[in-house]
Amino acid sequence: MEKRLIYLDNNSTTPCDPRVVDAMLPYFYEKHGNAASRNHPAGWMAEEAVDYAREQIATLLQADEKEIIFTSGATESNNLALKGVFEMYASKGNHIITATTEHKAVLDTCKRIEKMGGEVTYLEVDNLGRVNLAELEAAIRPSTILVSIMWANNETGVIQDMKAIGEICKKHGVLFHSDATQAVGKIPTYPREMGVHLMSFTGHKMYGPKGVGALYVSRKNPRVKVTAQMDGGGHERGMRSGTLNVPGIVGFGKAAELARLEMAADAERLSKLRDRLESSLMKMEETYINGDVNNRMPHVTNISFKHVEGEGLMMTFNQNIALSSGSACTSASLEPSYVLVALGLGDDLAHSSLRFSLGRFTTDEDVDYAVKAITEGVNHMRDLSPIWEMYKEGIDLSQVEWAEH
Ligand SMILES: *Cc1c(COP(=O)(O)O)cnc(C)c1O
Repeated sequence: MEKRLIYLDNNSTTPCDPRVVDAMLPYFYEKHGNAASRNHPAGWMAEEAVDYAREQIATLLQADEKEIIFTSGATESNNLALKGVFEMYASKGNHIITATTEHKAVLDTCKRIEKMGGEVTYLEVDNLGRVNLAELEAAIRPSTILVSIMWANNETGVIQDMKAIGEICKKHGVLFHSDATQAVGKIPTYPREMGVHLMSFTGHKMYGPKGVGALYVSRKNPRVKVTAQMDGGGHERGMRSGTLNVPGIVGFGKAAELARLEMAADAERLSKLRDRLESSLMKMEETYINGDVNNRMPHVTNISFKHVEGEGLMMTFNQNIALSSGSACTSASLEPSYVLVALGLGDDLAHSSLRFSLGRFTTDEDVDYAVKAITEGVNHMRDLSPIWEMYKEGIDLSQVEWAEH
């Protein structure tokens, strides 16, 4: 029997929609020009294609085309936003506020900024993964130049109160950046409406190609500027040098247009499918959902199966279901997810978690298969587990002394 991969890891990357691939193909050979070549039709054609894609993306965000700066992805966009603001607004202050549950592309950039003389406040989140608005406001100082809070979390799908954060930033005259990588193309993300001044996102999380992303930079009320982080030909109005990835940008634009047209229907179908997956798995005892179920992306759920190690569970179904575990595998050790730990989960429960992220190409059959395989896997692992046996016998596990492992 053919081994089929059930792909429930769309928050890591989405497949490129075949309609996106079709749109891109002519730009590798027939229309291969450099969008910066001003003297011949090959260049004009490429420039026209880039302009069109910029418009498709701006339309998705209800933004102006001039507010879209193409980059190589959300990692670069986050770097450009944070370091670019830090440098550009150095005379105003050196303090940035972010949260502990941000993506590494924000957290590690903040660490770099601290080395460059910046000061960073890392806000904790509550046990549902939400930033406390009063704490955020209290953290603002005269030297604060930027607040960076993600729109939706990649591990839990939890959506922050963007509007309220935007209002606080406006009240205090502080710029607001959001890593909206997991939200753009899945739910409405209109930066102007939310008071967001800079917004990072990427093609490959919204059924577009990898290696292309963008930074939205507000052009009015206020007009925001960022210092370029790459020196060169001065492309993208001086904010990001480098020959544009024309095929990638064309695909990104097409993906944005498809998202605008299909987002509502996709979200409705996927939230039903996600809810079915979730309620089927929740039939097992000692199973918990992580994050705020009332403010969550429609296609995501993060579930802890107590006393079942997530990585081990994935082995029981032979890796033919693509999922993400609540552990980040670094070279030396298996660390529990810092996002789940920030929500207050103990190391054990964090290690017992799986993230399910559905997508445009997920089918009912995929979900049925996953429910069956995961239920069997959890039951199997618990049957083999001495800890589970003790739990079933009513032994108070907190009284048991554990050997070092
Ligand atoms: C995937 C992801 C990124 C990184 O995006 P790339 O385009 O792969 O650089 C940044 N932030 C979040 C929240 C993500 O999910």
